[in-house]
Formats: sequence, C-alpha cells, structure tokens
Amino acid sequence: MIPSPKIFGLIGYPVTHSLSPLMHNAAFKALNLDARYGLFELKPQELENFLKSLSKKNIYGLNVTIPYKEQVIPFLDRISAQAGLIGAVNTIRALQDKLEGFNTDGEGFLKHLTEDLGFSPEGKTVSVIGAGGAAKAVTVYLAKAGVKRVTIYDTQEEKLKNLLAHLKASFKGTEFNQAHSIEGLKINNSDLLVNATPIGMKEADPLIVSEGQMHRGLLVYDLIYNPKETKLLKLAREKGAMVSSGLGMLLYQGMLSFEIWTGKIAPKEIMRKALEDKLC
Ligand code: NAP
Repeated sequence: MIPSPKIFGLIGYPVTHSLSPLMHNAAFKALNLDARYGLFELKPQELENFLKSLSKKNIYGLNVTIPYKEQVIPFLDRISAQAGLIGAVNTIRALQDKLEGFNTDGEGFLKHLTEDLGFSPEGKTVSVIGAGGAAKAVTVYLAKAGVKRVTIYDTQEEKLKNLLAHLKASFKGTEFNQAHSIEGLKINNSDLLVNATPIGMKEADPLIVSEGQMHRGLLVYDLIYNPKETKLLKLAREKGAMVSSGLGMLLYQGMLSFEIWTGKIAPKEIMRKALEDKLC
C-alpha cells in the first residue's frame, strides 16, 4: 500500500483567498515531510461532522478562520490556556482521535512586534481600532507583555464593551479605555496604533485616521497584509511614523501552528519567501 501524505489545512467560510497553503506547503517541502496543506470551505452545518471525521480523512492539524474560531471550541477535547484566555482557537492538533485547540494569533503578533520590529511593549500606550477576534488576541498579548494603557474603538459598542470587560477582569496591571470615536483613541499620545478592522483591504475603503494623528515615534501596525501598504500605512509612513503590515503576524502565527503540528522548528525564511513572492 502506498503511504498517503498527512493532511493539514484551513477551515473557514470563505477560505479561497488564504495564503496559508503556500507558506505551509513550502515548509513541508523544505523539511522533506510527506504532508499537504489544503483549504476546506465548510458550511456551518458541516462543521461538527467534519471535525468528528478527521482521522478518516488522514487530517492531523487544522487552522481555523472566520467564522469558526469560537464555534469549534465545543467540539474539542481540550484547549490551551492561551486559547482559553483569548476565547478563540485558530489551530487544532488531532492526536490519537483527541482534538486540541490552540491560538497562535496573539503570540504571532507579539513575536513579530518584539523580535522583528524591536518594539518593547512594557509601559507603552496603545490605541486599537476594532474589537473583533484579532483585536482580542492582540490586546490579550499586549497586556500579557505589560503595556500600560490600551484604548479601543469599535463601531459595535456591545462587542467593544464585552472585550473591555474581559480584559479588565484578566489583567489588573493595564488600564483599558473605551473610545467613542477615532479621535477618542488619542493617537497623538500613543506609542502604537493597531488597525484590527478589515478597513483598508479594498481599494475603495476610506482612510479612517486623519493626518494630524500621525507622528514620529508612533508605530502603526495594520493587521491587513494584502495590500502590502494600505492607505493607513502610506499616510503613516509619509508622516514619519514607523509602519508594519500584518504579513509578519501571518508568518509567525503560521510558524507556531506548524511547530505545534510537526514538533519541528518551522523554516522561517522559506515560509516568509513563499508569502512575499505571492504578494509582490
Ligand atoms: P472581525 O471579527 O470582523 O472584527 C473587526 C471589527 O472591526 C468588527 O467589530 C467591525 O465591526 C469593526 N469595524 C469595522 N469597521 C470599523 C471602523 N471603521 N471603525 C471601528 N471599528 C470598525 O475581524 P477580525 O477577525 O478581528 O479581523 C480583523 C482584521 O485583521 C481583518 O482584516 C483580518 O484579515 C486581519 N487579521 C490578520 C491576521 C494576520 O495574521 N495578519 C490575523 C487575524 C486577522 P462590523 O462587524 O460592524 O464591521
């Protein structure tokens, strides 16, 4: 019998624009692993049966994206402390019919921020636009890393209030504030601005900050990685702020998932090149 490759992949709806297959398949090839990474677009009613039949499909690991990062949790046998704190799972490991959930988004963001960009979060003041799943992962990790103050704005007030309540209950050493507008974020007094909304992905999207809010000494981190330079990043760069797209976060969260699944050190430069080649 010909041994079949181990299967890994991404579940979500939709998943067609994902760059994860490029990054992970390049890594499998570089390490000579008999494994493939594919895309699984699942309708909500298909999720449970899919997760219950991973071993039949030879699936050893999954990434999870919108809208299933929270919805998968009831079907898992255990989740990591980090995934519990974030309340969402972006990585599943299937081991001997047991499913374990992890979250590598926040750690991936923090690793890129500290290791590649040289930003030290301790004692810093941070403004965040968006209070969805990505903002939750990012703010949990910024708080863990000792930021002094986090102010968040989201058009969905209920979602924002829930996130703030969760953060305040979990991290006593950080001050958390609600902004009622972009102006209320007080970006002028911040060291770091994170865009955790999808605004900027489309050409027609508006610029959601104003020129006067950009300043030298500010790092603007846009979680969006396609396009490589959003209108927000362009303005920030022109005004002398430091800038980063979300490509580094994508890379590091992928490397962490790869290491959870394979137990091997992820080939960073190979994975980075796979992403950059596609986005150039
Ligand atoms: P999400 O759950 O939809 O959260 C985004 C939040 O921002 C929503 O509550 C949304 O409200 C709000 N929002 C939209 N426009 C706004 C505005 N003008 N001002 C204030 N708030 C606004 O999305 P997510 O999963 O957190 O992802 C957010 C972004 O991060 C996406 O672009 C995603 O691709 C990116 N991301 C990147 C990485 C990476 O590795 N680089 C990882 C995860 C996510 P509505 O629902 O009303 O629109």
